[in-house]
Amino acid sequence: MAGIIFLFGLLIGSFLNVCIVRIPNQETIIYGSSRCPHCYTRLRTPDLIPVLSFLFLKGRCRYCHAPVSWRYPLVEFLTGLLYYLTYEVTGFQPLLVKYLILFSLLVIIAFIDIDRQIIPNQLVLTVLVWAIGWQIFWPELSWRESLLGSLLGGGILLAVALISQGGMGGGDIKLMFAAGLVLGSAATLLALFLAFVSGALGGGILLATGRKQRKEPIPFGPFLAFGIWVALLWGDSLIEFYLNLSGLR
Ligand SMILES: [Zn+2]
Repeated sequence: MAGIIFLFGLLIGSFLNVCIVRIPNQETIIYGSSRCPHCYTRLRTPDLIPVLSFLFLKGRCRYCHAPVSWRYPLVEFLTGLLYYLTYEVTGFQPLLVKYLILFSLLVIIAFIDIDRQIIPNQLVLTVLVWAIGWQIFWPELSWRESLLGSLLGGGILLAVALISQGGMGGGDIKLMFAAGLVLGSAATLLALFLAFVSGALGGGILLATGRKQRKEPIPFGPFLAFGIWVALLWGDSLIEFYLNLSGLR
């Protein structure tokens, strides 16, 4: 089963690539076949097998031999891995569906943020609707916990934005208002903590390796996505571990 979930994730990852490219351009993600961005040749099924086509064609377009971004197989593999790990934690149950859709949205958000330093409102809105829908029909948290998570997540980032005067984007704030509903209070705090720590590390590496200049903005969406993902899947164990470690329990 885990293998099937991984392969399914690879296929979904291929669709997420389409979303990452098309959503910021307001293009449809449902119709229209994939084309090589270089020669515009319509790609056929053998060109679109996740990861394998890229490896088999040695990272080049079959028709014009232009290099294909390694980002495509990366997103596919990452999504496969994400699906596999999620399944390992939740098992086969409704919660798996809730998380897989949420994490897929986060992958799209993270990579659009990397590309364009924006988090499209329609994606945040989809996260919000997804979160509220589950909260209504299949709640895992009390409404109080859910709303507290939302207020904490959005509120803390809003405070950071006000204090740092532009260091935090509006999209990040809105994303945490929405994701907080799914996380609840404790997991929201953990997600933010993980996002800030990984963001500081990631930012430091980007500066040290010269990939980013000091004044260049570093998108925070990918780090929030990482924090949300880890907090949802392993939050309880991490919080437990921390409490034991600090002697609070
Ligand atoms: Zn081509």
